[in-house]
Amino acid sequence: SSGINFDKFDKIPVRSTGTDTPKPINDFSEANLRSLLLDNVTKSGYTRPTPVQKYSIPIILGKRDLMSCAQTGSGKTAAFLLPILHSILESGCESNMGACPQTPQAVIVAPTRELAIQIKDEARKFSQGSMLKCVVAYGGTSTGYQLGTLSRGCHVLIATPGRLNDFVEKGKVSFENVRFLVLDEADRMLDMGFMPAVEKIVTSGSMPPKGERQTLMFSATFPGEIQAAANDFLVNYVFLTVGIVGG
Ligand code: ADP
Ligand code: MG
Repeated sequence: SSGINFDKFDKIPVRSTGTDTPKPINDFSEANLRSLLLDNVTKSGYTRPTPVQKYSIPIILGKRDLMSCAQTGSGKTAAFLLPILHSILESGCESNMGACPQTPQAVIVAPTRELAIQIKDEARKFSQGSMLKCVVAYGGTSTGYQLGTLSRGCHVLIATPGRLNDFVEKGKVSFENVRFLVLDEADRMLDMGFMPAVEKIVTSGSMPPKGERQTLMFSATFPGEIQAAANDFLVNYVFLTVGIVGG
């Protein structure tokens, strides 16, 4: 069961700006996603994509950076997870058990432990039946258990900013193989005072520079600081607004 009200969402205006923006899909099957992903999407009870998913999935598969503003509950998690998981499955996920540092292909930064866990659960649900490993890391708890899980392999790392920087400083994680960097709920990270920590991640020594990674930002609102961050962190990006977004 989901909280998605399609009658409401289908009427929401969507605007995308940017050059050569990939066309939206109307059905999950149009995205040419791996069959394992499509099967898991169906098993999740998702019969059709929400507006933010219709637009974001082809944009991300088209290798574009994305700044997406859409309200809470509009389905942003699957909008970025499905194309990212698809790309990692396409490139093959070799076993990296025991490797230290772990070198995830995707790093998803989220403001809270609850949100990070939710994204990890969704990622594991969608990648179920594959070798792809999704790991979560957050602060406020000892590092031992998280590092144990991390050492068993990590293709997708979902983390809160402080704990992620901590793991990088301790040499447990390196960004050298990052192809996707996601900043989820960017406005909440701003409100919680995490922007310096986020900037540290984005400019970290092992992080590929913009243009050599895909950077995806999601936010419910679009204040000046988020606009500035988007201009700083993204390149040739598509700007997507779903519904009416406040500044
Ligand atoms: P957001 O990140 O925009 O706040 P979520 O990704 O958390 O939204 O999704 C909100 C809820 O809607 C979740 O319970 C999710 O499982 C569900 N959901 C997302 N996409 C779909 C879809 N295409 N069909 C049905 N339910 C969906
Ligand atoms: Mg979300």
